[in-house]
Amino acid sequence: MLGQALYLPWWYYRSRICGERRPLQTVLFVTDYCNLRCKHCMADGHACGTMKPYDQIRRELLDAWHEGARFVDFEGGEPTLWRDGNRRLNDLYRLAKQLGFYSGTLTTNGQRDFSDTLADAVWVSVDGYGAYHDAVRGAGTFARLDANIRASGHPALSVAMAVNRLNRPSVRALAEYARENPAIRSAAFNLHTPFPGTEDLTLSWEERCAVLDELIALKREGYPIMNSVPGLRIMKRRGFPKDCWVANYILVDGKRLSQCPGRVFGVCDDCGFCMAGEMYAVLRLKPETLLAGLKLRLPTGRGI
Ligand code: SF4
Repeated sequence: MLGQALYLPWWYYRSRICGERRPLQTVLFVTDYCNLRCKHCMADGHACGTMKPYDQIRRELLDAWHEGARFVDFEGGEPTLWRDGNRRLNDLYRLAKQLGFYSGTLTTNGQRDFSDTLADAVWVSVDGYGAYHDAVRGAGTFARLDANIRASGHPALSVAMAVNRLNRPSVRALAEYARENPAIRSAAFNLHTPFPGTEDLTLSWEERCAVLDELIALKREGYPIMNSVPGLRIMKRRGFPKDCWVANYILVDGKRLSQCPGRVFGVCDDCGFCMAGEMYAVLRLKPETLLAGLKLRLPTGRGI
C-alpha cells in the first residue's frame, strides 16, 4: 500500500511535469475464446483461435511493469475461459502480484461462475436491464449473469454498460439495478464506439449528449455511478485532448499498442469509452475524479 501511495504521485509528476508517457495500467488480452457472440463485438473478439501461453503472458507482464504499469486488467474473449495446461486465470493474478503489480482486475461477461476469482476488482459487462441486455448479448444471458453476480460475494464488483441504439432506454433501469443489488458496488457507463462493422449501433451526437446528461442527473440523485461528473461532461465535447496512453494494450496476438485499438481504427473522435474522459479529468486533478479513482484502487481484502 505504501509503495502504491508513493508511486502514484511519482508517476503523476513524471507524466504531467516531465512530459513522460508511461502507462499506469496494462490491458492484457489472454484469449479470444468466448462463450457469447454479442452484437457490438468485432468478429476477431471471439475468433476462438488463441489461448495465450502462460510464459508469454509472464514476459508481457514483466515488460509492462518495466514500462511503468502497476495495474493490470485481464480481458478476452472471455478471460475466465483462459487455461494453459493446469493453469487457470487465478494463476495469472498470483503471477501479477509476484511481479509487483498492485492490483489485477477481471472483465467478464458473467456467464460463468467467478466466485473463486482472486481478482482485486471485477467488472461485469451488463448492457441494460433484462431484455435489453439479452437483445445485445443473447437470450438468457441476463438471468445467468444476475445469478453469478449474486453468488460471487466479491466486495469490489461493478457492472459496466455500453450504451447503444438498442439499449439506450435502459440506462435508468440499469442504474436502479446497481442500486438495489447488494452484490454490486457501482455501475460504470460507456457509449458505443463505432468499431468497424458495429457502426449502426452508434448513438447520434445529440442522443449521446442526452445520455451523458441523464447520467449526470442520476449521479446527482444518488445512484452509484462510478463515472465522475467532470469525466462525463468532457465526453460531450467532440475532439477533446485524449490521454489514452495511461493504459497500454497487449492484444491476443501479442501485438502491443501504446493505447487502445480505437486509435488504429480511427474512431477516437467518436469514442464512447468514458475512461478517456476520466483520464482527461484525472490528469487535470479534478477532485471528484481523483476520489472516484482512489475508491477504485482501495484494497478490499479479496485479492492476493
Ligand atoms: S479516444 Fe477512445 S477509441 Fe481513441 S484511443 Fe482513447 S479510448 Fe481508444
